[in-house]
Amino acid sequence: MLVLKFGGTSVGSTEAIQQAAAIVADLRAAGHDLLVVTSAMSGVTDLLLAAAHAAANGRSSDVLNMAAGIRARHVDTCRALLPATATATEPGLLARLGDLDRLLEAVGVVGEASPRALDAIASLGERLSVLLLSGAIRERGLASAAIDGTEVVRTDAAFQAAVPDLAATRDLASARLLPLCAEGVVPVVTGFIGGTAEGVVTTLGRGGSDYSAALIGAAVDADEVWIYTDVDGVLTADPRVVPEARSLDRLSYLEMSELAYFGAKVVHPKTLLPAIERGIPLRIRNTFNPAHPGSTVLAATNGGSHTLRGVTAIERQCLVTIEGSGMLGVPGIAARAFGAVAATGTSVPMISQSSSEQNICFVVPSTARDRVVAALTDAFDRELTRRDIERIWAEADVVVVTAVGDGLRRTPGVAGRILGAVGAAGINVTAIAMGSSECSLSLVVDAAHARDAVRAIHTLL
Ligand code: ADP
Ligand code: ASP
Ligand code: MG
Repeated sequence: MLVLKFGGTSVGSTEAIQQAAAIVADLRAAGHDLLVVTSAMSGVTDLLLAAAHAAANGRSSDVLNMAAGIRARHVDTCRALLPATATATEPGLLARLGDLDRLLEAVGVVGEASPRALDAIASLGERLSVLLLSGAIRERGLASAAIDGTEVVRTDAAFQAAVPDLAATRDLASARLLPLCAEGVVPVVTGFIGGTAEGVVTTLGRGGSDYSAALIGAAVDADEVWIYTDVDGVLTADPRVVPEARSLDRLSYLEMSELAYFGAKVVHPKTLLPAIERGIPLRIRNTFNPAHPGSTVLAATNGGSHTLRGVTAIERQCLVTIEGSGMLGVPGIAARAFGAVAATGTSVPMISQSSSEQNICFVVPSTARDRVVAALTDAFDRELTRRDIERIWAEADVVVVTAVGDGLRRTPGVAGRILGAVGAAGINVTAIAMGSSECSLSLVVDAAHARDAVRAIHTLL
């Protein structure tokens, strides 16, 4: 059994959906049992959320425009894609589009988009695209059924970042999907969305349809999960920053998870967990270049001679520093600091503490800057008054640049080469941290120099 996931660009137009359906048909013809997971058409989730916010803010003409754009894009694609069977698929689309209108209207009346309402609205992107992709597969003469993620992925009610219940998902997914496969039907499941035990729709977080594919793959014990996107696999760097980035033929789960965690958008970071747990290989392949083998992500990569595999960046971050000589040797400062940050609901991608213990610095998203500094100032009120802590401040607009490779922990001198390359490019590094897995090294640099830092490190790869 193979699970194939098609990303937003892979279902972003009539031609793309035709191409995705052709890949499905070819793999079926080659004898594979298939489960398909789809994203929304590219840009649709952004547009749905923008429409929800516009509705909450009473911008009704913007809402109408956006809803009309979403409607036209899906209806036009349906007619172009399914000349013979559009009439069978269109009513389903229109029902979903009607749901959208009603949800936007409700948000407009309340004047507020709750996380639950945002999930109901954002879920519609996949609930629309699934009808198109499933229709296109049928158009090629195969049996196919569109399946809603609420039927197969059980989650808690943490709207916008719902946490899946793996045991329940395993039961639901195998009961719903495997009988279809046994009958020769290709199920196409909406990525990104799940449902609570009460049947309320949730989403797994932006970019989460990769995670859906891995969850479903793990639930049915798939042989492999293939993530179809718009590049030839996992590249040594973001091709928009480093045009000469190369695709990696093999990498380890650990390398992939560090690349994803530190900003390589190609795979959602949570995708790795279900794959690792069940030992399922992942492949990242290009919908628009299906002959390319793409990248395979496995437990081990047979050694390989490469020390460094890739370089990534997380943009729009700020560096928070807690500084003061009174922190020296005082136990519990770090615990209190991170407790205060956690209470604001902010995640911290990188921490660094100097050996002198006179400061702790860490990175948070720029959007969390004010609330994090306020929470810390509050938590250390006494220390600030006594001057044990002199300052708590945040340096705006920095980027975390990370070099990743299993070789970082076994090859001496690599960290030195990385810092040397960045230094030779005349770039100042504000903080450094080695990932806990020891297969990544992160540097904080000024946003203005981030791209040059990525390129400088890339020359070492
Ligand atoms: P999809 O819609 O298929 O999920 P995404 O846009 O989420 O696709 O992810 C694919 C994009 O990720 C690529 O088009 C590429 O621009 C970007 N990207 C960033 N870093 C990397 C990397 N290291 N390797 C491959 N792609 C990357
Ligand atoms: N459509 C969702 C998003 O844009 C999920 C995904 O594409 O992975 O975030
Ligand atoms: Mg994606």
